[in-house]
Amino acid sequence: MTRESLKNKKERVRRIYEILDPLYTREKTALEYRTPFQLLIATILSAQCTDKQVNQVTKTLFEKYKKPEDYLKVPAAELEEDIRPTGFFRNKAKSVRGCSQGLLDFYGGEVPQSMEEMLKLPGVGRKTANCVLGAAFDVPGVVVDTHVKRLALRLGLTENQDPDKIEKDIGELLPTERWRRFSDILIYHGREVCKARKPDHDQCAVRELCPSKGI
Ligand code: SF4
Repeated sequence: MTRESLKNKKERVRRIYEILDPLYTREKTALEYRTPFQLLIATILSAQCTDKQVNQVTKTLFEKYKKPEDYLKVPAAELEEDIRPTGFFRNKAKSVRGCSQGLLDFYGGEVPQSMEEMLKLPGVGRKTANCVLGAAFDVPGVVVDTHVKRLALRLGLTENQDPDKIEKDIGELLPTERWRRFSDILIYHGREVCKARKPDHDQCAVRELCPSKGI
């Protein structure tokens, strides 16, 4: 199989973007939050969990825990119980407490606005950082979650499995100002059409631009 040139790939991505962009909502996240700190906590809780379920939990959680200190002054088991319905609650509680401690230690309790600073927080990886920076501060970034990874591979935008490499590969194909929106578009398209188990090629608006339409 001949390798697609970067120029062709960029043009294909431009067309995919133009076709899918009008089909999906422009809301940056379905997670409910009022402050960057709340968004950071909600994003940590959203791993392997639906946004709807996270919103249900954070409705009461954010009443009880308002500042990073609040997550640290309760016993770990109490926080675990409070976030239990989001799944993987022990690990998530550890991340929430770790990142709360990091915010207090490094940034006076405020959420920082750069990738470099975010990655110093325990429990915060590039995906979480990109979600928060993009939605709360409009910092451009490619969010690579499970949908983006799957679609990037199916659409032939990367050959890598590693999310950090996929982020870089996608980033090279689009202008910076489109990074965030393109991630969102792929997430919506992945949830609604290009599903993990059964991609609906027949209903896919970018079928003609996809090398995997026959899988
Ligand atoms: S053609 Fe199929 S594999 Fe390609 S993006 Fe559409 S649904 Fe996914």
